[in-house]
Amino acid sequence: MKLFDVYPLYDVTPVSAKGAVLTDINGTEYLDLYGGHAVISIGHSHPHYTQSIKDQLDKIAFYSNAVQNPIQEAYAQKLGTLSGCEDYQLFLCNSGAEANENALKMASFITGKSKVVAFKNSFHGRTSAAVAVTDNPSIQAPINKGHQVIFIALNDEEALKEVLSGGDVCAVIIESIQGVGGLDQPTTPFFKTIEALCQEYQVMLIADEVQSGFGRTGLFFGFQQHGVQPDLISMAKGMGNGFPIGGVLIHTKYKGIHGQLGTTFGGNHLGCRAALAVLEVIEEENLINHAKEMHEYVKVQMASLPAEIILKGRGLMLGLAFPFEIAALRKELLYTHHIFTGAAKDKKVLRILPALNITKAQIAQFFTALKKVLDKPENQSYFK
Ligand code: PLP
Repeated sequence: MKLFDVYPLYDVTPVSAKGAVLTDINGTEYLDLYGGHAVISIGHSHPHYTQSIKDQLDKIAFYSNAVQNPIQEAYAQKLGTLSGCEDYQLFLCNSGAEANENALKMASFITGKSKVVAFKNSFHGRTSAAVAVTDNPSIQAPINKGHQVIFIALNDEEALKEVLSGGDVCAVIIESIQGVGGLDQPTTPFFKTIEALCQEYQVMLIADEVQSGFGRTGLFFGFQQHGVQPDLISMAKGMGNGFPIGGVLIHTKYKGIHGQLGTTFGGNHLGCRAALAVLEVIEEENLINHAKEMHEYVKVQMASLPAEIILKGRGLMLGLAFPFEIAALRKELLYTHHIFTGAAKDKKVLRILPALNITKAQIAQFFTALKKVLDKPENQSYFK
């Protein structure tokens, strides 16, 4: 049998990984500044994480949501404390798309409405409602197109007011920093306006924290920068550090109804133990603070690059915006300098999403390599 060919693959075969370093089948080491799409939060193969999973595997790996599961309870407790979101209830699932699918569904259940406001350049996943609120028609099949979605530009208060005042919107879904889109951010006044208008017109505010959550931006959740309180928060990626787990936080003012949401695998024992270990490491190693400090170090390094290259993002959710498309640059970083980076919908943005315990030396290694590529004659013409 062949694999379904939907992924363009790099010619690299990692066989082991530790911290921010991947080792391939030939023994070559790669610096991982991308974490396989922002998934690796506490570093590859963190000893506390792997030991916790192994121990759990020896006890019980799975049973469905029909039984008491104290690890889920322990996880919810710890997540509430560390995130400061104690006024929320936890629903566990398996991926970011599924988290958004359930958040959108809850918004519709709660309000009895179905229209959604999303933003230009958004990415929310590939399941039916999630892909419908993603601003990329090329990944929407005809079956995904029955949803009523209005895309407006980030920070366009007038457009937002006009749509919400129609009274038929169930949710506004927003990333606190756009990941796939290219690191653009809503302003604090815009976030506050969304919150106020959502309250006025009985609309659910959904913060998609799938990529920006779990300390990546230097706060537990990215929206916390803006002092707002979403109705629903979706999460995944860094939550499991590679173990497939996602979740939705639902404000306590909304009560659960038996059977309204559900999943077979979501919240299983092994997944919860993995996710709990992630939180333990984030807390123990003070990784959120470290992400903030490393951001400051990135800024110091940026000062030695040409001024035309702009740093976007917060914490360790970063984009470097170049005055040219970066596909060739990324290839060179990977194949010559052995550094994994990411691309965005904006083809001029290089995405950097390392493990939160990345070191200064590893960041410096990236900037040294980047300068070598930029110093090549073919790249000089872009800079004064
Ligand atoms: N939401 C955001 C902001 C994302 O960046 C992604 C994935 O890149 C998703 C949702 C979808 O997550 P998943 O691929 O786990 O379904």
